[in-house]
Amino acid sequence: MNQFEDIIGSMSRPFEQEIRKGCNDEVVIGGMKNYVENWATKSRQLGIGLAEKQKLRDIADLFAEYDRLTPMERLTQIEKAQKLISKSNSKGDLKPAVSSSRLEEETAELPLFANVQETKIQPETQDIEIDLKYPPALAGSDVSEFIKIQIKQAGGIGPRIADKLAAELEIRTIEGLLEYYPRDYIDRSRIKSIGDAGRGEENETISGEIVKQTHIKPRRHKAKAFGKISIYDGTGIAQLVAFGKRIGYLRRFLSKGEKVIVSGKFERRYGEIQTTNFDFEIIEDEDLDLIHTGRIVPKYPLTANLTQRMVRRWVKIALDEHVDQCPEFLPVDLRKQESFMDRRTAISEIHFPTSNKHQGMARRRLAFDELFLLEMGLETKKSKFETYTNGIAFQADNNLIDQFIQSLPFNLTNAQLRVFEDICEDMENQKPMNRLLQGDVGSGKTIVAALSLIKAIENGYQGAVMVPTEVLADQHTSNLTNLLAPCNLKVTLLKSDLKKSDRDVALTEIGDGTSNIIVGTHALIQEAVNFHKLGLVIIDEQHRFGVRQREQLREKGSTPDVLVMTATPIPRTLSLTVYGDLNVSVIDELPPGRQEIETKWVKDKDRNTLYEKVEKEIKKGRQTYIVYPLVEESEKMEEIKAATEMAEHFQLKVFPNLRIGLLHGRMKSVEKQEVMQQFKNRQIDILVSTTVIEVGVDVPNATIMVIENAERFGLAQLHQLRGRIGRGKHKSTCYLIATPQSEEGVHRLKAMIRTNDGFELAEVDLVLRGPGEFFGTRQSGLPDFKLADIIKDADLLELAKSEAAKIAKSDPDLNHPDLQALKKMMEAKWEPYVDKLSVG
Ligand code: ADP
Ligand code: MG
Repeated sequence: MNQFEDIIGSMSRPFEQEIRKGCNDEVVIGGMKNYVENWATKSRQLGIGLAEKQKLRDIADLFAEYDRLTPMERLTQIEKAQKLISKSNSKGDLKPAVSSSRLEEETAELPLFANVQETKIQPETQDIEIDLKYPPALAGSDVSEFIKIQIKQAGGIGPRIADKLAAELEIRTIEGLLEYYPRDYIDRSRIKSIGDAGRGEENETISGEIVKQTHIKPRRHKAKAFGKISIYDGTGIAQLVAFGKRIGYLRRFLSKGEKVIVSGKFERRYGEIQTTNFDFEIIEDEDLDLIHTGRIVPKYPLTANLTQRMVRRWVKIALDEHVDQCPEFLPVDLRKQESFMDRRTAISEIHFPTSNKHQGMARRRLAFDELFLLEMGLETKKSKFETYTNGIAFQADNNLIDQFIQSLPFNLTNAQLRVFEDICEDMENQKPMNRLLQGDVGSGKTIVAALSLIKAIENGYQGAVMVPTEVLADQHTSNLTNLLAPCNLKVTLLKSDLKKSDRDVALTEIGDGTSNIIVGTHALIQEAVNFHKLGLVIIDEQHRFGVRQREQLREKGSTPDVLVMTATPIPRTLSLTVYGDLNVSVIDELPPGRQEIETKWVKDKDRNTLYEKVEKEIKKGRQTYIVYPLVEESEKMEEIKAATEMAEHFQLKVFPNLRIGLLHGRMKSVEKQEVMQQFKNRQIDILVSTTVIEVGVDVPNATIMVIENAERFGLAQLHQLRGRIGRGKHKSTCYLIATPQSEEGVHRLKAMIRTNDGFELAEVDLVLRGPGEFFGTRQSGLPDFKLADIIKDADLLELAKSEAAKIAKSDPDLNHPDLQALKKMMEAKWEPYVDKLSVG
């Protein structure tokens, strides 16, 4: 957090001076554009959150053309940047830099209140320091008892309300109610005088008495009626403005003489202080107990039959009666090390904070608890698997491997060597390997897979490679056959549309051990497939396989080692949650001599110019992909139709002299194979296709990729597609034809243009689309955290992971007496989830 503020601080340091000097871009050497860009780039190496990195990017983007702007335009950009900066600071510590002249203008519009004295109704809350307490972790039985307490049976709340809570929110236990966290707060300890409201951008809270209701009927037909409610607090009058039906509703609730609290965005318009966007609450005598006023008040997510007042009251009762039973389960040392609030205090403070700071501390502790329980589940599962499952200890006999490496026309990259060392260590160990290998498209994962397979074979085992599509199965089979030709190994292909006789031969070879390597689609996990001696399972492009399918393949051997490979880089935060029980290796280096792919955004109207460029490249001997990406499964037919029609259109109208080929998912496997082979042999100049070419396809002579409707696709997918080019010695270009409909869409295109780094793109994608969308499916296996956010809380997640790993390594069964509460809590909360998620 502080790192981020430091960067922001440094980045924005020259802004004010630049404004004072008339925005002539002379304040920093090298220009403001470069200055800001430098800071944004630097932040990539720092351990700050993804959202924060995105923010820095957004700020840098504002300066992208700074050198070419007029001073007036520059001022606007700086002010936008300052606004972004002040927003990123949620507590508002950094004041938005509104120039003083503008403030004067605004005040001048308001003669009515310009001279009103500022009086503070409520004193500002002081940050009373909470003494951190470190009560010991409890026994397991305390946890089991506590989580069982039913609201119905518990004192204080009563059976009728218990029924209502169950019906409305599915909350039945005291624990459930105490973990029904507020979604927001209203800081009523900082009530503003009305005379002072409406000058800034942020939400404000005022309080006063309703002195008048006005209803204005429209004079013109069809114009909307509107109404005003006037509130007075001794320093000024604020107008709540409403239109249409809402007026009637407000008039009913807000009658003259009532006292109210209003939070909202106040503005100074027409000589008044107005708000149209507000929440209100009527202050009743019972509120004097201060649950509802005069402090930082929680706002809960509600249903139609609940009010804030009800939920606040029930939570308050639950706290008063039961918070002392709330079990502490984090080890004392960890709490001390991190200065965590104890859990009871944290639960109290998250609902009724005594200050903003304490609310923040409480949130940190409770968000950590969520992440920690999950990571504990994953880590203990991993340790148990490693401790109790006997795998194969492959020998370190590397004759064949050396021979193979000698036969390669190139040297392995350092990253490839390092990753293969990780794999060797795993394979030679008696513990079963469970490793995720990440590497960007073209980073050379296939060679690493081949090395691992040879190692298994050299030890007398078979290796299986499971891929998601038949195109890929064909491709891997021919690649591996070629690669491994010097080693004299038998590669067998198994897929669902083999002829019966071919299939029988394949099955026999797999069963009697004639095949050394078996490549296939999900056909590999069918019952009829019996391996002779399966020792290594490699799963490529894992995001297309379900967890269950991976397990089925593993069960076909006696605890074979498993290597999962993916070319979809997964931001570390996500891999910690979703693949937390796998060890991860990353190939972070491309083979030498790779061409940087240049990416360009093409507007629809510039199509023809693009086609001319394509034709020119092809005349030079290169080849081109034109892709119509799939939007949704249901649109598959349409997509195929679009691709088919486009292929015809190109052949007849656009490129009559070139050879156009077509590839889509509904074609028979032999047809697809034939088309790919023709493209490889340069018998086709332009391959028009759907996303079936997304993964793994390798034609080095193809140097242009055109992607239609690019705005509709995730960055990961676009990046995958783009990875099909730039594989040979010629310069390659990717053209994105796109008409983005949203700012997010523009962000994505810009990111594609800016970087070729799959991990950076994955991070951007994650920030823009959120974790659920990131995986393209709802069933991504991500847990529903109540407080934690894996993007914003990336640092907490890392901490949770490393602390959980420490404990799980030394005590995988959590037998130590001090860990009993933790163990019980973990079983109750996350175990069911972890079982569903885990890859092992
Ligand atoms: P990935 O599967 O990671 O997308 P591949 O294994 O298909 O990448 O490799 C892409 C291309 O790079 C292949 O043509 C491969 O022969 C080549 N290649 C792999 N490793 C190296 C290396 N160390 N040096 C040069 N070329 C390499
Ligand atoms: Mg092993």
